[in-house]
Amino acid sequence: MQVFEKLSEYRYEQLVFCHDKATGLRAIIAIHDTTLGPALGGCRMYPYATEDDAIVDALRLARGMTYKAAASGLNLGGGKSVIIGDPKADKSEALFRSLGRYVETLGGRYIVAEDVGISTTDIHYVHIETSHVVGMDVTYGGSGDPSPFTALGVLQGMRACAEEIFGTASLEGRTVAVQGLGHVGYHLCRLLHEEDARLIVTDVQADAVERVAREFGAKAVEPDEVMTIPCDVFAPCALGAVLNDASIPKLRCRIVAGSANNVLLEARHGEALAERGILYAPDYVINAGGLINVADELEGYDERRATRRVLRIEERIRQIIAISKRDSVPTNVAADTLALERIAAISSMERLHTGHPYGQQRRRRETI
Ligand code: NAD
Repeated sequence: MQVFEKLSEYRYEQLVFCHDKATGLRAIIAIHDTTLGPALGGCRMYPYATEDDAIVDALRLARGMTYKAAASGLNLGGGKSVIIGDPKADKSEALFRSLGRYVETLGGRYIVAEDVGISTTDIHYVHIETSHVVGMDVTYGGSGDPSPFTALGVLQGMRACAEEIFGTASLEGRTVAVQGLGHVGYHLCRLLHEEDARLIVTDVQADAVERVAREFGAKAVEPDEVMTIPCDVFAPCALGAVLNDASIPKLRCRIVAGSANNVLLEARHGEALAERGILYAPDYVINAGGLINVADELEGYDERRATRRVLRIEERIRQIIAISKRDSVPTNVAADTLALERIAAISSMERLHTGHPYGQQRRRRETI
């Protein structure tokens, strides 16, 4: 791979290779953009087939975090780290402490958190070596499970979409079809039930369906029915890529608003939804509640403040709908525009004050 060519494609700032023969650590830290603040992003452990696969994954995920933080109003940049290894076989205290020491060398330019294949215990080992960590256990001053906050953000985004389509943000009496009743899906159903919405639900795990049916009076359907059933809102909270050439023509909803990541198989499926008159709440904005919550740890975690910030996802989705109309583009494109416009505005301000495109690393106070 031509690494510098790859970095220049999307203006990555830095790619760090971490190697520690003693612990077996082979990790890559990708920092995409720190215009808005230090790069925050999870660490993923995965047995990548090749080193190129690991680099590509770290770069792709880091860039995604830049957009997510920017569009969510956070004063953070985008970064991500990957450890090449099998999370079932290759973990040790020494390995994660070694990663922690590498994170520490970056002096706060990169803040690490949990991601796929990483547990709270692993993050605790990282934290022994560096303070540039979020997503710690509650007993260590962390913010705990992000899922209820992600669900709250989804509810708020759904309200903004309902206002656009039905003229009122209220979800009372609206029919919402929820796909996936795991950590986020369950809490979303709870919140929708409190709003007096009608629930149609599905999951591949029967006990998850039974629980939501019993607690919230939801109507259960088979997993292959949930995307074709008539409803006001389809809420994907399970898998990515569920919106594709095969599924979009069959949808019978007015709004798609859920927590699942990468819900569009390809970016062009955002256009396909718009052509069918279906309003899509972009995944990385509507599901940012967990990130907003965990980022609050950087200021000394305060649940009430974090909740207030998560509630503002409603306003972010409204802004995206406005940009989508202004530029005549689908909402997934409008979300990127929102992120890029904010970075561009701050970037020119930074140049003015420091003469440096990325400014200086300094602690910023949250402004949203
Ligand atoms: P989870 O694993 O707890 O829940 C997923 C649920 O989907 C499980 O109950 C699973 O049985 C079900 N499922 C799997 N395949 C299905 C299918 N074909 N049809 C119906 N149900 C199916 O995950 P989660 O933490 O609730 O996250 C859900 C989605 O939201 C994921 O895409 C995740 O990346 C995204 N997300 C989660 C958070 C968070 O705070 N947890 C934050 C941002 C994004």
